Amino acid sequence: GDEDLDSAASPLPSVSASHTDRRWSDTTSYAGKKKLQSWFQLPNGNWELGKILSISGTESVISLPEGKVLKVKSENLVSANPDILDGVDDLMQLSYLNEPSVLYNLHYRYKQDMIYTKAGPVLVAINPFKKVPLYGNYYIEAYKSKSIESPHVYAITDTAIREMIRDEVNQSIIISGESGAGKTETAKIAMQYLAALGGGSGIEYEILKTNPILEAFGNAKTSRNDNSSRFGKLIEIHFSETGKISGANIQTCKMTCVSRVVQCAEGERAYHIFYQLCVGAPPALREKLNLMSAKEYKYLRQSSCYSINGVDDAEQFRIVVEALDIVHVSKEDQESVFAMLAAVLWLGNVSFTVIDNENHVEPVADEGLITVAKLIGCDIGELKLALSTRKMRVGNDTIVQNLTLSQATDTRDALAKSIYACLFEWLVEQINKSLAVGKRRTGRSISILDIYGFESFDRNSFEQFCINYANERLQQHFNRHLFKLEQEEYIQDGIDWAKVDFEDNKDCLNLFEKKPLGLLSLLDEESTFPNGTDLTFANKLKQHLNSNPCFRGERDKSFTVSHYAGEVIYDTTGFLEKNRDLLHLDSIELLSSCSCHLPQIFASNMLSQSNKPVVGPLYKAGGADSQKLSVATKFKGQLFQLMQRLESTTPHFIRCIKPNNFQSPGLYEQGLVLQQLRCCGVLEVVRISRSGFPTRMSHQKFARRYGFLLLESVASQDPLSVSVAILHQFNILPEMYQVGYTKLFFRAGQIGMLEDTRNRT
Ligand code: ATP
Ligand code: MG
Repeated sequence: GDEDLDSAASPLPSVSASHTDRRWSDTTSYAGKKKLQSWFQLPNGNWELGKILSISGTESVISLPEGKVLKVKSENLVSANPDILDGVDDLMQLSYLNEPSVLYNLHYRYKQDMIYTKAGPVLVAINPFKKVPLYGNYYIEAYKSKSIESPHVYAITDTAIREMIRDEVNQSIIISGESGAGKTETAKIAMQYLAALGGGSGIEYEILKTNPILEAFGNAKTSRNDNSSRFGKLIEIHFSETGKISGANIQTCKMTCVSRVVQCAEGERAYHIFYQLCVGAPPALREKLNLMSAKEYKYLRQSSCYSINGVDDAEQFRIVVEALDIVHVSKEDQESVFAMLAAVLWLGNVSFTVIDNENHVEPVADEGLITVAKLIGCDIGELKLALSTRKMRVGNDTIVQNLTLSQATDTRDALAKSIYACLFEWLVEQINKSLAVGKRRTGRSISILDIYGFESFDRNSFEQFCINYANERLQQHFNRHLFKLEQEEYIQDGIDWAKVDFEDNKDCLNLFEKKPLGLLSLLDEESTFPNGTDLTFANKLKQHLNSNPCFRGERDKSFTVSHYAGEVIYDTTGFLEKNRDLLHLDSIELLSSCSCHLPQIFASNMLSQSNKPVVGPLYKAGGADSQKLSVATKFKGQLFQLMQRLESTTPHFIRCIKPNNFQSPGLYEQGLVLQQLRCCGVLEVVRISRSGFPTRMSHQKFARRYGFLLLESVASQDPLSVSVAILHQFNILPEMYQVGYTKLFFRAGQIGMLEDTRNRT
């Protein structure tokens, strides 16, 4: 393990900052090879490389680059790596694996446009925020033929393909990172590599074309990213026996964020497609849908941002239409899609007028209302009723209640959101039909997951709550695979392995999922109480969860969760309302009865979300709406489905890092990068991989794969004897492998030489 390689002659024996983990110390000594350098942390938190001039007792004198000479406590210095290790392409190769050294190494590479670096089994990708010359056919071919081996999305995708074929196990590429870190771009780069394998019948081309469609409908400009995905996506790409693409399937994990349709912060935009439609629709379509410019629509007017620097929405519209053609959405269906989008926009312009002294309202029968009715194909009268009244069942009677202005506005917005949410689901369904795998499906696949990363703002609401919960689940998957399974496998196979602790986020997941006293259960419970408010919800959390180490009640209506990536304070304002799905039965009835092209979809989608009516005294009194699944529960369901799919695959992880918050090239902020590296456990992974045996193969497989390379025949033909003979013949050092009960375990990089020999033979 680390200990025996750890050298007493290390350049700075006493140097180890208290916050730097001892276990990350050197594995090799470079003493004497070069000038002694060391990291020193400036008051602003950044690390600077200093030359050590002298060490006396507990104090050292160092000189910093600008010629400044400082006397510092030796314990505040952190060992730096020798120059020959500058810019190594795997952090595992660093002699000193401390935070400043890792930051420096990544920065060193980043400055030269080498945005990819391995951290053991994980690929770290730092967003260049500019075009870098690393992609396209030349590079794809080079990675395929292995003439380039530096870390790359192409390389990791290539590994996934090879392992899928070699092990006959489905693979997944799991991409995570903060908003704007480059997940979606990375996913597209991986898809590009897969598509280059070809498929026949143009299926690979179709798969690539799903990107502009899903981005148009699912992405929006936010304050952090001009093209921010507001949904999680898992695309499963299927392969035939011959290793060609045979089809694909997309699963999305969309959630509360459809609220962006009806409300949007200053400087941000609603989904791209609305603006694309407004500027890109050809004249005939404009007329048919009674389209106006984006500025005329109240939903879009909430933010004064209508265009994005460097993006031509009209051109994007043409690209989306072309992509819809390619994934076989008929012209007729496309027109219905655009009609629904226009209906959403026009709904926002529907206004209400007060009709009695109880503040009850009815919609004004103006251009907005008339156009909506026309576009969705319903009677104006029915639309009016759906927007301004609610049917209530009391006993066996149905009474009609008039809505107040705020209730009617909520109903209108809920209708707009539902239309949009269903439209999105319908589109995904159409795309999936088009990409459906033929009958001769082999079941082998590579899935690519692009999901919203951990979020922590000054004010965190229900959206962050859902997103961070999803990330907690994903982190568990990561932990399990990289740490837990690893160790369990060693122990199970009886090999010598010093146990390594790893961060476990079980407590936090429990806080969310425990029944009946977990965050999700309590939220759902409070959401069903007619008298429940955000305040009663917050109080209930404090009452029941304060003993959980990951939970802390805060003042007002807030609470803190200790996530794996740090503490987040959530403000419960709006939680209950966002969690209740506001669409009422009246609206559902309206949509399922209208004569537009897509009522069956709307109806089936919405009704399938509905649960059986709750038969409790509260609900009987409360109203006639059938009780639908809460938003959080639906979200959890989608998340579990997604995780389940991933569970049976061999994962490959890519961690995207955002080097600055300005979407600006060349700017590398140490603190920001470090915080992201810590969040995603990159350093832990390297430490574990370096001291472990990351490559493994069963005795049988090893013997089968390399047995023919043996120069002398082996007396006993059992796999273990053959394997051992191979190991001896190739002089693989005893410390580089371990023989388990069923498998051989190798240090990183050991199998490469055998593979090369095998490929040459
Ligand atoms: P979100 O969680 O908000 O969806 P994300 O992680 O998916 O964010 P992307 O949309 O992939 O982030 O990336 C944001 C922007 O960064 C891109 O629009 C692009 O300008 C730039 N970018 C990301 N990766 C690359 C890359 N490999 N090369 C060039 N630019 C990139
Ligand atoms: Mg994205």
